[in-house]
Amino acid sequence: MRIGVLALQGAFIEHIRMLESLGAETFEIRNISDLKERPDGLILPGGESTVMSKLLQDLGLYEKLRSLILSDTPVMGTCAGLILLAKYVEGGRPSLATMDITAVRNAYGRQLGSFETYAPFADTGDIQMTFIRAPVITAPGKNVVVLAQVDGNIVAAREENQLVLSFHPELGKDPAVHRYFINMISGNA
Ligand code: GLN
Repeated sequence: MRIGVLALQGAFIEHIRMLESLGAETFEIRNISDLKERPDGLILPGGESTVMSKLLQDLGLYEKLRSLILSDTPVMGTCAGLILLAKYVEGGRPSLATMDITAVRNAYGRQLGSFETYAPFADTGDIQMTFIRAPVITAPGKNVVVLAQVDGNIVAAREENQLVLSFHPELGKDPAVHRYFINMISGNA
């Protein structure tokens, strides 16, 4: 299993470490030649969605990534990655716009918006969730399954091949979300 991690900006190394600790092979996506072979999965990390969105266009990665996602390549977007996938964005502009959700950017405020909590994810028990100037999800479309909520806000969701998290699962010690994504790729979740 080869998982491509978008490595333009933000928290990508932590995703690579976590996936490799679970036995997955990873590679960094920095330009279009990195996508010559079709990956089994894609990770869009946290960072700054406006910067990442511009880089996707400038580096010619936008169309290729979008078509991989629309043709069912499993993708996991965390934080800024969630914003890149959302069809509708409050406080910003849509980018890849493949998932039927609204992302509300910086939903917890710009400066004081970083915190940690524990809450259930999918069918696992509580997991550690680290929020850093995080978005929340509103208006999930009819095929969107909610996988986690914190204080009434949707913070994890899935629509078929697309998994999004408001928080940073790569920054904690618990690999539950990455394990879920690997199971999604192998058709077991
Ligand atoms: N606030 C950032 C954005 O809008 C996302 C923050 C993050 O990825 N930790 O892109």
